[in-house]
Amino acid sequence: QAHLDRIAAVDGDVHAFLHVSDSALETARGIDERRAAGEELHELAGVPLAVKDVLVTTDMPSTSGSKILEGYMSPFDATVVERARAAGLIAIGKTNMDEFAMGSSTEHSAYGPTHNPWDLTRIPGGSGGGSAAAVAAFEAPLALGSDTGGSIRQPAHVTGTVGVKPTYGGVSRYGSIALASSLDQIGPVTRTVLDAALLHDVIGGHDARDSTSIPESWVSMAAAAREGQSGEVLTGLRVGVVKQFSGEGFQAGVEQRFAETLTLLQGAGAEIVEIDAPHFEYAVAAYYLILPAEASSNLARYDSVRFGLRVHPQGGGTVEDVMAATREAGFGPEVKRRIILGTYALSSGYYDAYYGSAQKVRTLIQRDFNAAFDQVDVIASPSAPTTAFKIGERVNDPLAMYLNDITTIPANLAGVPGISIPMGLAPEDGLPTGLQLMAPVRADDRLYRVAAAIE
Ligand code: GLN
Repeated sequence: QAHLDRIAAVDGDVHAFLHVSDSALETARGIDERRAAGEELHELAGVPLAVKDVLVTTDMPSTSGSKILEGYMSPFDATVVERARAAGLIAIGKTNMDEFAMGSSTEHSAYGPTHNPWDLTRIPGGSGGGSAAAVAAFEAPLALGSDTGGSIRQPAHVTGTVGVKPTYGGVSRYGSIALASSLDQIGPVTRTVLDAALLHDVIGGHDARDSTSIPESWVSMAAAAREGQSGEVLTGLRVGVVKQFSGEGFQAGVEQRFAETLTLLQGAGAEIVEIDAPHFEYAVAAYYLILPAEASSNLARYDSVRFGLRVHPQGGGTVEDVMAATREAGFGPEVKRRIILGTYALSSGYYDAYYGSAQKVRTLIQRDFNAAFDQVDVIASPSAPTTAFKIGERVNDPLAMYLNDITTIPANLAGVPGISIPMGLAPEDGLPTGLQLMAPVRADDRLYRVAAAIE
């Protein structure tokens, strides 16, 4: 009730939610009754969970921020939602996002922007700005996001929350409306590292319905976070700092908070090691070929027949005319831009030059990570180059928007896990900044151990 009241009080200004559940309270009462009857429930049972609208749910519409899916009701729950419900978490609502998770500001939502609770004139990050804003504004204690190029970590950075992109394959993508299948990962958005770890344990692990799900078992992230809380883990920890993640484009206050964090880490016994990752500078370019290519293929399913919107052109027309009219009306400008880019990059004669080259760069970036992790235990960086920018400032400048992802994209290309935790406010504007930590594939528990120690 407290969270529903809070949503009623602030969401008119924040607009974190696209839909608020009308059965949440009833579900919560059911949990209370089971607990009163002596049933042993999960420690998160009864806790409200905000769900990014990229995840399908049976009891609320799932739009992925797009008009083409307006009002769409899924016949099944995404695996992560199913697992959360089984643990007794209560899906309190669906959160706003850039259309089909394309963006860094939530301004590309077909349903209007979300506002940053720290300053309502600023963006909450994206594409998962709704989930991050909901958590930052105390509308929900926990949320789920998706991170294809930074959409969990960058919103965490600009809203002072914790966000985790798990190892690729560590959390099921079944029921996540696909953006770029080789990059997408679902993960937690919370206010503390332990909260994120607890939620990760609930949603993570093998899922036979996701063919890229890792079949091996995982250690408990919550146990790792609890171990880290004493801070001892920092003694002798080797922390890599990537040379390529500084300088041009990085705000002074973000760099200052990062430098102070490194000094604190050193004071706690960590060793700071400079890392050269020569191919990271090509990560954004490679990503913006691979992502549109995969997205153009994934979005082909919105054909006006199987899902959502159907627009009939005036005076009738063929099936193809209906499809064209539907896509014209149903997709926003950023989605159209990426479908065109992706279709071009995949077309015959260009495939090798663009998509093929980008895939080779991806391999080189993976090698940079492998070389780095031969020398260090974790890599640290700011989670994004700047604090929250003003709504409207970059929305008509796709390149400026894309460059925001410079520090988060490499992890998606390599499949490694990353976390963003609050790093203090930038002195020049008083806005939150985030520290990103990255670890080798399957070492998600290390991130929780170290992040809990720093927190
Ligand atoms: N900002 C990035 C993009 O627009 C990241 C998106 C994401 O992680 N879903 O592609």
